[in-house]
Amino acid sequence: MGKARYVFGPVPSRRLGMSLGINNVPYKTCTYSCVYCQLGRTTNLTVERKPYSVPEKIVDEIESIVDTQAKIDYITFVPDGEPTLDKNLGCTATIIKDRIDIPLAILTNGSLIWMGDVREELKLFDVVSLKIDGLDGMWRRINRPHPRLSIDMIVDAMVDFAKTYRGKILTETMLIHNLNIASDILNEVISIIRRIDPYKVYLSVPIRPPAEQWVKPPTEEELLVAYKAFADRLGEGKVEVLSTPEPPKFYPPADPVEYILSMIAVHPLRMEYAINILQKHTDKPQKLIEDLVKARKICLVRYQNTVFLVRRIIRK
Ligand code: SF4
Repeated sequence: MGKARYVFGPVPSRRLGMSLGINNVPYKTCTYSCVYCQLGRTTNLTVERKPYSVPEKIVDEIESIVDTQAKIDYITFVPDGEPTLDKNLGCTATIIKDRIDIPLAILTNGSLIWMGDVREELKLFDVVSLKIDGLDGMWRRINRPHPRLSIDMIVDAMVDFAKTYRGKILTETMLIHNLNIASDILNEVISIIRRIDPYKVYLSVPIRPPAEQWVKPPTEEELLVAYKAFADRLGEGKVEVLSTPEPPKFYPPADPVEYILSMIAVHPLRMEYAINILQKHTDKPQKLIEDLVKARKICLVRYQNTVFLVRRIIRK
């Protein structure tokens, strides 16, 4: 078989374990042109669905890789643009479900979910990840949507979809310094996410080169405040931070330093809790934490009279 045209990986994914990626739309065809997009600015800003891929070809490519790979957790549509713009999405997903016994996921910005056929096609997936970075003016500033889109229609359709969908919904919110980290803006986003009631809520920071140079990640303080706002209203177990490009490795508690680093890659950790873990392994837990601060691996951030260990965000 020739070079794979639609399929890449499997690659370790921050949300989905070992994920075999499907790129079903050409670069860079999207309904948004997000300021933080790691693919650069959108060159084909559109809301028109077209048959961008060849379903049989995609499934053949997947099968040839699945046959040689020991472990694939998900087959994930994560293209160079917005996957629901592909009119053949539903057809491809149906054939995959028919022929391959691996769960199917899609990372979509959700901007076409108000279209009935898109909603039906998304129901074929076991996991649907939806993007919600801001509402109204903030949505326009961050996501720079196609002018025919309306955030109210999108949000209402997301909430409607969640009522009947049987799989897992994830949401992803990108936090950007000086843009959507003010508490009133975050509270609006949290209110919408509460109505959707997803399985998991992810907070991302721009860690790869963004479309616009001025886009900066939040400070560790801003990230902690945002995390607390989300966790307080949605539940701590539901909210996770994606602040590393690769999924954190999970170490057994026997290696307490690595264990703590892997934990705070996902959730900021209370100082007293970290000390609790560390003192099982060292009589100087405080010193070990100071060393991690000096090594610039973590930051200590005070929030509402509690000190938290927060993963240091790498700035370009
Ligand atoms: S929706 Fe995704 S692909 Fe489209 S511009 Fe935004 S980040 Fe890039």
